[in-house]
Amino acid sequence: MKLNDPITVMPGVGPKKEQNFSALKIRTVYDLLHHYPRGYLDLTQAVPIFMAQDGDTVCVRAVITRKMQGAYLPNRGGKRGMRIFKLYAADDSGSMTVSFFNQPYLFDSLSTGETYYFYGKLTRGDHGAQMASPQCFLAETAPHVLPVYPQTAGINNKFLQELVKKAFVECKDQLSDPLPKKLRQRLSLLSVVQAVSQIHYPQDMKLLDAAKRRFAFEEMLSFQLGLSQMHRERMELRGGRLEDTDISSFYASLPFALTNAQENAINDCIGDFSKMIPMNRLIQGDVGSGKTMVAAAAVYLMAKNGKQSAFMAPTELLAVQHYDNLCKLFEPLGITCVLLTGGLRAKEKRNAHEMIQTGAAKVVIGTHALISQGVEFADLGLVITDEQHRFGVNQRGLLQKKGEYSHTLIMSATPIPRTLALLVYGDLDVSIIDELPKGRMPIETYALPNEKRVRALKFVLKEVEKGRQAYIVCPAVEDGQTDLISVTAYADALKKTPLGTLNTAVLHGKMKSAEKDAVMKAFAAGEIQLLIATTVIEVGIDVPNATVMLVENADRFGLSQLHQLRGRVGRGSEQSYCLLLAEHTTERIEIMTKTQDGFELAKEDLRLRGSGDFFGDQQHGLPPFKLQKAMNDPSLIEQAKITADEIVTEDPELNGKYAQLGEAVARLFSRNEQQSFN
Ligand code: ADP
Ligand code: MG
Repeated sequence: MKLNDPITVMPGVGPKKEQNFSALKIRTVYDLLHHYPRGYLDLTQAVPIFMAQDGDTVCVRAVITRKMQGAYLPNRGGKRGMRIFKLYAADDSGSMTVSFFNQPYLFDSLSTGETYYFYGKLTRGDHGAQMASPQCFLAETAPHVLPVYPQTAGINNKFLQELVKKAFVECKDQLSDPLPKKLRQRLSLLSVVQAVSQIHYPQDMKLLDAAKRRFAFEEMLSFQLGLSQMHRERMELRGGRLEDTDISSFYASLPFALTNAQENAINDCIGDFSKMIPMNRLIQGDVGSGKTMVAAAAVYLMAKNGKQSAFMAPTELLAVQHYDNLCKLFEPLGITCVLLTGGLRAKEKRNAHEMIQTGAAKVVIGTHALISQGVEFADLGLVITDEQHRFGVNQRGLLQKKGEYSHTLIMSATPIPRTLALLVYGDLDVSIIDELPKGRMPIETYALPNEKRVRALKFVLKEVEKGRQAYIVCPAVEDGQTDLISVTAYADALKKTPLGTLNTAVLHGKMKSAEKDAVMKAFAAGEIQLLIATTVIEVGIDVPNATVMLVENADRFGLSQLHQLRGRVGRGSEQSYCLLLAEHTTERIEIMTKTQDGFELAKEDLRLRGSGDFFGDQQHGLPPFKLQKAMNDPSLIEQAKITADEIVTEDPELNGKYAQLGEAVARLFSRNEQQSFN
């Protein structure tokens, strides 16, 4: 068995299980060994039988008092069915029946009079306490702790435990360490073999911690090395300087005056465009602060200098919206825009490709389809990613490579603390838009218990009757998710209320792109009065006439999500409202009613969740680190940064002494690539 062998070399893993494993992102034996436990079961914390409640998954330490012969259960057709084996086990507090199905071998291996740990779900019925198919360990030789792995359909913990053990025994000699010995000694890090062994079967908590620290360090180091490679590539690029940076006619064409903050950000870009090294700039501004105008100004200058811009949005909806808006803005200025998304028909796509390739299109707006193969630009000068936190770091890099020397502009409404920003963005320059366009009123935000739903809906109706539009957001698409309210069921229910007379549409991620576009267009045009949607509308959607955002099950959403959702209203000159409905008002909902400031909310989010978790939801373009530990340990980040700098001086291409780390970098960033979008 080789480390890089597919998982199917393991006993009991066929094509079906291989499929199941792919849900856990496990493709090879190597992946299996690096499938870290999400927790540990402490066998020393056994529960007395008497104390275990019905339905508890517990570990019981008990002596086998009696074993019974296996009996066949009758099948439905009267044939012989499963064979059931039973035994009795007792501790000081009580006894229980333990049963196994079709596992004679396991049953035979258990001896009367011996003490075992039984781990499983305990139920209480007419015949007292019972456990079906528990895991059993002879108490004398059992490990102290057992790994509890992230599991999936068809692959349970026990199976994983067995496979990991086997893989470790067979392959541990092949595990070579990407971290050189000297470095490990200097930083007191475990070797890879020790770490793999300890992370699965820790001898004690100290060693477990050391194992986690080692892997967290390795991941963080790989990440820093990856960033540094991207940075080095950028520094070698030349020639992006623009000749003509006069922007006055763009300003003159706008229907409103830009805010000072917008103008400052645009001036920052102009400064960058006058340099030899390409721009790499982040525009950070709260929801509704008008970031798109900064991007538009940059696009305008590119076009004026004969260069193309690529504008990437995280969703098709948002891409279409940007396309519509930019067309309106640029057509009078003689600048042609094209849209390129996965939802286009083949002919439209071909047409778009051709206009991009010939340079007829100066602005290309799309989703990540923009970085898919087959898109050739005539002269790409600028790459913009909107709502950057939705994109992976390497996706940005990929698109940048499409242009020989393209400038990069990244827009994000997610304010993150500076130390972490450095990590995520590496060497980005940052412009902050800390000002909203004039005339914006704070959005009145209310936390409402579910009993007030009828009143909330009446309020929605009243606003719509005044000529405004409204959103209702529900967390799930289809019904059957127990208490979660689905958009379709919700829309049906509304038909029977006074709101049934409104022009209503639903919008969710499972709809076809063309359907979504049609709904969004109709909503933007004011033809749809009420939009019942999932969080597909969370980011970027801009319909100024919409003044009410009602969120159902608001307790299910994170703070930044709620903030983004609320940001869909308050975009025009009318007073806007955000109604947060939930069974119970949570602290997050409470905070939402108190502040509208995105930075303030991000700080609260960080306080409530801790930075590890803050980044854990993969909303920030970081690779999905397996071990969030690093994020909570600034000294580890710092140490990784210093080490990365040293390594890069010694082996800049990571193909010599540190070739193995080079592979680790590739692996980490490809994990990122596998992330899905919508
Ligand atoms: P975000 O920063 O969230 O991406 P947008 O760029 O979508 O914000 O802008 C929000 C809305 O404000 C849009 O309707 C846009 O046309 C409008 N807007 C942008 N800048 C100004 C301005 N200086 N004055 C008035 N309205 C503006
Ligand atoms: Mg935006």
